[in-house]
Amino acid sequence: MNETRVIVIGSGFSGLAAATSLADQGYEVTVLEKNSGPGGRARSFSAKGFTYDMGPSWYWMPDVFESYFNKFGKSTADYYNLKRLDPSYTVVFGEGDFVDIPAKLPELHTLFESMEKGSSVQLDKFLEQAAYKYKVGINQLVYKPGRSLTEFMSPALLLDVLRMDVFQSFHKHIRRFFTHEKLIKLMEFPILFLGALPQNTPALYSLMNYADISLGTWYPMGGMHKIVEGMVKLATEKGVKFRYNQNVQELAVVNGTLTTVHTSTDTFEADIVVASADYHHVEKHLLPKAYQSYSDSYWESRVMAPSSLLFYLGVNKRLDNLQHHNLFFDEDFGPHAEEIYTHAKWPGKPLFYVSCPSVTDPSVAPKGSENVFILIPVAPGLQDSEEVREKYFNLVMNRLERLTKQDIRSAIVYKRSYAHNDFISDYNAFKGNAYGLANTLMQTAILKPSLKSKKVKNLYYTGQLTVPGPGVPPSIISGQVVAAEIMKEFAPPVTANV
Ligand SMILES: Cc1cc2nc3c(=O)[nH]c(=O)nc-3n(C[C@H](O)[C@H](O)[C@H](O)COP(=O)(O)OP(=O)(O)OC[C@H]3O[C@@H](n4cnc5c(N)ncnc54)[C@H](O)[C@@H]3O)c2cc1C
Repeated sequence: MNETRVIVIGSGFSGLAAATSLADQGYEVTVLEKNSGPGGRARSFSAKGFTYDMGPSWYWMPDVFESYFNKFGKSTADYYNLKRLDPSYTVVFGEGDFVDIPAKLPELHTLFESMEKGSSVQLDKFLEQAAYKYKVGINQLVYKPGRSLTEFMSPALLLDVLRMDVFQSFHKHIRRFFTHEKLIKLMEFPILFLGALPQNTPALYSLMNYADISLGTWYPMGGMHKIVEGMVKLATEKGVKFRYNQNVQELAVVNGTLTTVHTSTDTFEADIVVASADYHHVEKHLLPKAYQSYSDSYWESRVMAPSSLLFYLGVNKRLDNLQHHNLFFDEDFGPHAEEIYTHAKWPGKPLFYVSCPSVTDPSVAPKGSENVFILIPVAPGLQDSEEVREKYFNLVMNRLERLTKQDIRSAIVYKRSYAHNDFISDYNAFKGNAYGLANTLMQTAILKPSLKSKKVKNLYYTGQLTVPGPGVPPSIISGQVVAAEIMKEFAPPVTANV
């Protein structure tokens, strides 16, 4: 049997999805991962009886995960147990001003009406449009490889695209429906997932509100890493081989064809390579210059999504006034956004996010303790040091303790911080980015770095720096999209082993 050898660089969600989709069709797939375990930005670690998800904590768009496993005759339930959270999350607007966002629509209507008369009717109108955008976006647009405009040339699709507010900003769009400042903040929150300001994000992305409100916030019991474990199990069932501690250092190209992948310890021959490691790293550090598709100035001009300063805390008591997901919007986002997107610098008064998965899941903390994850969005490319991290730890803890009315610091039994330097050393992240490339209009679909190399005929890219964009569901979709492109250009070698 003459099998086509595929090397996938990186075992994040995109790499796992690409590897599994290809192995399922008979390709011989090996995943090379520089770290000692799978998951990339969604790895987990344990310390002092606590288990921490290192990156993603919001499980949104459950349909995308379900359809991924369904594609292989499986279901998410074969790998992990999902729980819908209610409240979905809490927004802290200030002292004593906490708003729980209910999972059930009638309760959300009541909440909206309590802030702005008539806003529940407006919410329904808004959601009707958002549902349409989600349907067209998820079913027709995000699975497009974004390699040519012709992909979008069907009259029906063009009409859909025009009806989807691609050219209007989300900022304007939302103000057509609501006037109350808090409602606007609530509705703009999901857009922050896309790594850009509502002013620079197409109104098309109100589909994120549909994901938030209508599809809900879920949690895989045991933590987000359970998704990774499930995907690795499925990949292994399909025959994918995993090689950890394999730091790819060089891609050898002969006459426009990639032939071998060199890691720090081994050499692997390949017929096809799928790079799911950060696109910039692969282009600029692994490929010979003559075979790089994009210049330094191209990368410098890209709008990166934010980086993050993270704290993983173990607290030896249960905490009051915190839900599973808590958004601290007690400061004005304007100046903070400016410090992330316009004049990159460490923020003066940042907004931040706190996740306490132990509120839902006793397995992630010792009995009577709380697992606390703090995320401060910050600009990529900042000078990261222990002193700066400590300054922000104290700043956030002062606010957290004051707003939730309790002492936390004296009960901390485990603390780890994570920021730019770690994103660079762990994932080779361009400028220490956390979420890849921002989803601005000028970085959408065919305007993103291409999923196929322009100069090396058997080199493909996947993950949060190419189509469709950042986030766990888009990364899983990205892996499937690249696999489908490969199958078109390098036909499956043997009968599918479904
Ligand atoms: C703090 C944080 C919070 C987030 N929160 C959410 C959330 O709540 N919900 C959500 O949907 N999304 C969230 N995201 C985004 C989401 O986690 C990412 O978009 C997604 O995990 C990216 O997957 P990926 O496969 O593109 O990349 P990665 O996960 O980065 O995978 C790339 C892999 O390549 C490996 N690699 C790099 N260089 C090499 C090399 N030279 N050789 C071998 N291997 C290499 C890396 O080690 C890594 O394992 C969050 C991200 C972060 C960082």
